[in-house]
Amino acid sequence: MPDKTNETILILGGTREATELARDLVSANPGARIITSLAGRTKEPAPLAGEVRTGGFGGAEGLADYIRANGVTRLIDATHPFARQISLNAVEAARITGVALDIRTRNPWAREPGDDWIEVETLEAARDAIPPRARVLLALGSQHIGVFASREDVHFVVRMIDRPETPLDLHDHALVLGRPGDTAAVEAMLLVAHSITHIVCRNSGGPAAYAKIEAARQLGLPVIMVSRLK
Ligand code: NAP
Repeated sequence: MPDKTNETILILGGTREATELARDLVSANPGARIITSLAGRTKEPAPLAGEVRTGGFGGAEGLADYIRANGVTRLIDATHPFARQISLNAVEAARITGVALDIRTRNPWAREPGDDWIEVETLEAARDAIPPRARVLLALGSQHIGVFASREDVHFVVRMIDRPETPLDLHDHALVLGRPGDTAAVEAMLLVAHSITHIVCRNSGGPAAYAKIEAARQLGLPVIMVSRLK
């Protein structure tokens, strides 16, 4: 990408792709101002090239104000595909300010031969699709866990980056702290160690969380996959 010294690029981030994009843009545009915006949900986000700002803007209007106040010349939506509100705000703020919007959100994963997916549209449907007395890897953010509280018959293994501030509202569970494994082999070890029978996750797309899907395929485990809302 050619260097445009006067550019100010605002990346709506919070994903591995956004981190890589910031790195690439900073190295390709040494004269430009590259700002990544984070919602502030993760306590210790991965280091980012360029500037970082943290916290909500106050809706589309607030984002538009930020764009104007900082002379943003390009807005890039590299947020997580399930982060729907900020993407809607980006579209509206771009409309209000006239700034160019570049949408870089990922495509969903496609089912491959050997995948045993039970596709559902909501977390409630995912909860109801879990068979009695299953042992489930619940690969979801803490804000989505409460839905599963009524499944007292199920053993849940919950993986989270940060330790939750309040105990998880789940009857029978184990907490695994850390980021998803990079390879199917690492994910398979976790699945086997906890005698997992099912995975519940959302169809986030992208490479970062895909290793568990590959591991499930190799082990012949069903995945209860929450699709993106159309
Ligand atoms: P969301 O529901 O779309 O957004 C809720 C509100 O959070 C937005 O209205 C905005 O507040 C603020 N916000 C969201 N992303 C922001 C950002 N990058 N910079 C500044 N403010 C932001 O979003 P979410 O699902 O809570 O996700 C929050 C962040 O976590 C996103 O950056 C996303 O990329 C990342 N993330 C989300 C998921 C997921 O599963 N949803 C997974 C991994 C990472 P204001 O209206 O006040 O501006």
